[in-house]
Amino acid sequence: MSEDTSHIGPAIEAFRARLAEVAAAQGREPGSVDLVAVTKNHPWQYAAEAVRSGVLDLGENKVQELVAKRAELIEHEPELAAKARWHFIGRLQRNKAKQAVSAADVIESIDRVALARAVAKAADSSERWSAQAPLPVLLQVDLDPAREPGESDSSAARGGAHPDDVRALAAEVAGSGVLQLRGLMAVAPLDGDARAAFERLAQLAARLREEHPDATVISAGMSGDFADAIAMGSSAVRVGTALFGERTLTSNR
Ligand SMILES: *Cc1c(COP(=O)(O)O)cnc(C)c1O
Repeated sequence: MSEDTSHIGPAIEAFRARLAEVAAAQGREPGSVDLVAVTKNHPWQYAAEAVRSGVLDLGENKVQELVAKRAELIEHEPELAAKARWHFIGRLQRNKAKQAVSAADVIESIDRVALARAVAKAADSSERWSAQAPLPVLLQVDLDPAREPGESDSSAARGGAHPDDVRALAAEVAGSGVLQLRGLMAVAPLDGDARAAFERLAQLAARLREEHPDATVISAGMSGDFADAIAMGSSAVRVGTALFGERTLTSNR
């Protein structure tokens, strides 16, 4: 089984240079924007190459794929695996909470109270997390202005809490004892002004910090819109395509 990963190192280097340029143009330090390499739909070798190139934060959006890829990395490249931090960035079902807390180092997509409770319960009964070592989480916000509050449990395709529901969700997470509220995450709406959406996110984040001063992370920006996100104060971009190329289903060559 071989995977050609020779394009990844140079692509990461090139992207880092663009990231530094964009940050500098906004008067920000290059180091003030973290890079999460989204390895979804790519084989574990891509994750290994990212870590080898110094990108230690990896993103996955399906629990099963996260669990499997993490296990493969541990099996084949234990030293790289020990450095990697896996971010879960996808829709999470309550019945997958246990698997998610066993494999993820950060869950970025807490978007409803029922899910927060399920994840807290799973973290509480896992050996990885405790009140002394809480699981870091972000609250995912839906930036689509058309949605009504309280609809968070509906099947909104991309997930995310309504902005009006963030305060109560934050209180639930902060009160759980076993989850650490680190900030907010969002995806720009498909058909809309990304910059305006990221600006709304920044305002929400500022409001959140009034009650939760340690919730400083703003995870926003992907391959196509990271410059807008950084302009609006993002502290972490989640990038797949620009680092790895188009996603192909994992092949079993
Ligand atoms: C796939 C994905 C990304 C990365 O998208 P690219 O356009 O490939 O950079 C970022 N965030 C989430 C939530 C994703 O699902």
